[in-house]
Amino acid sequence: MSTAAQTSHSVSIFDGPYYLSIAGKLVEAKDSFDVINPATGKVFAKAPAASAEQLEAAITAAKTAFKTWSAISYDERQVYLDRYADALQQHRDELVRLLTLEQGKPLNSMAAPEVDQAISYIRQIAARRIPVEIVEENDSHVVELHHVPLGVVGGITPWNFPVLLALWKVAPALITGNTFVLKPTPYTPLTALRFGQIAQSVLPAGVLSVVSGGDHLGPQMTNHPDIAKISFTGSTETGKHVLRSAAGTVKRVTLELGGNDAAIVLPDADYKAIIPQLFWGAFGNQGQWCVGIKRLYIHRSFHADFVAAFVDYAKTVKVGDGLDPEVGLGPVQNQMQFDKLKTFLDDIKANGQKIAFGGDIDETQSGYFFPITVVDNPPEHSKIVQEEQFGPIIPIIVYDDIDDAVNRANASIYGLGGSVWGRDTKAAVAVANRVEAGMVWVNEIHTQGVDIPFGGHKQSGIGTEQGHEGRLLFTNPKTLLIKKSF
Ligand code: NAD
Repeated sequence: MSTAAQTSHSVSIFDGPYYLSIAGKLVEAKDSFDVINPATGKVFAKAPAASAEQLEAAITAAKTAFKTWSAISYDERQVYLDRYADALQQHRDELVRLLTLEQGKPLNSMAAPEVDQAISYIRQIAARRIPVEIVEENDSHVVELHHVPLGVVGGITPWNFPVLLALWKVAPALITGNTFVLKPTPYTPLTALRFGQIAQSVLPAGVLSVVSGGDHLGPQMTNHPDIAKISFTGSTETGKHVLRSAAGTVKRVTLELGGNDAAIVLPDADYKAIIPQLFWGAFGNQGQWCVGIKRLYIHRSFHADFVAAFVDYAKTVKVGDGLDPEVGLGPVQNQMQFDKLKTFLDDIKANGQKIAFGGDIDETQSGYFFPITVVDNPPEHSKIVQEEQFGPIIPIIVYDDIDDAVNRANASIYGLGGSVWGRDTKAAVAVANRVEAGMVWVNEIHTQGVDIPFGGHKQSGIGTEQGHEGRLLFTNPKTLLIKKSF
């Protein structure tokens, strides 16, 4: 079924065909849709477009599988998940290459760590437990708090980290006893279809189904009476639709949404030393990172020097096809995002804002290559400061007073992440404590792990992923009140 194809960079890849995974079987769809390699702007594969009936079949299979999957022990489920991680490991190189081809991210620096982290997360999460708590006990009575699985979980995922963001939903849902139906974004369906396909050889039928297709499949999941929870990652706009639709059946929802993270570089920061971290914190994954640095607040005392050094660093980074090992930044993932980024550039130019680096799109290139762009001190009210750009443009904004920087960082509908940088750790932590966001890093950026809760404040989301708190959200608390003797 699998054939090897050669790309221009002599990389062997899985060349399809791709199937839906439903009820333990690989299923063809009547219709298909194109998948574009963003580095070429050309179609390189076809993905199956599931019908409403096929999505329905996946949900029914998940509901059936829930009866047995939820009844076995954590230890038994761990064995399955470890086997799944082993199976994925065998396909690791193929998944890495496919991820670069469909998403655009550089193979070695981004795609490989994403797949490796996802596999490692499955193993680590499989080893976690939610123990029964004794809430109170005396001679005659005991109260136990159990956390029972919800039922069928529907996962809806975006195109920036298509492997990691999906599997870090799947693993905690499965280990806690739920079954799962995943709908990946139509922009990057292939890696999900492949890891769904791989799952069918190791997991019981119906435990994990993967169904690709158009955006219209999303609402079918969010209002479906047999789906107990929607675990959604995507834009705030779509998140609102999910929330409204889920209300009809009082579904549990976890929403991981957009952000406009500020990095505040304090007056005592060793600002030259941290430029690589700030650069990659903003531009890693082509800036398509929910917790990417989207606004850089720099103290006036070193602003000019900082911009010059930041631009010098930017000049060392090659933009190109992610399969090229020299490349640090790949293309933007899709035409829609590329066009959206152009509106930021148009606004910057129309308002005479100063572009310190980049800003010129090479229209002769066929892929979605967007130049690394640094905007020097645009006004606070400008589009590039106020809105989530989700791409390789960063505003560097001057501040004089720390209180003012914190107020500006917090003046946003978003509250996903943020970072504070300074030599005096205690002072930096004091500033971090005032940043209104779910994750605030101090002198580091983007550290994450299975025991580190991840989630947004304000319109950046509801609920948490990862950490004990995140795993609890795949369960219902159930209190057992037991009289010991009559
Ligand atoms: P999107 O909201 O356009 O799409 C996300 C998913 O929702 C896709 O699978 C899409 O098919 C589906 N969808 C579309 N309409 C739907 C509907 N009415 N009901 C249910 N599902 C529907 O987001 P995107 O453009 O794919 O991703 C980029 C956004 O995601 C950015 O705003 C980014 O900040 C955010 N994001 C957040 C996190 C986080 O953890 N907070 C992580 C990654 C990305």
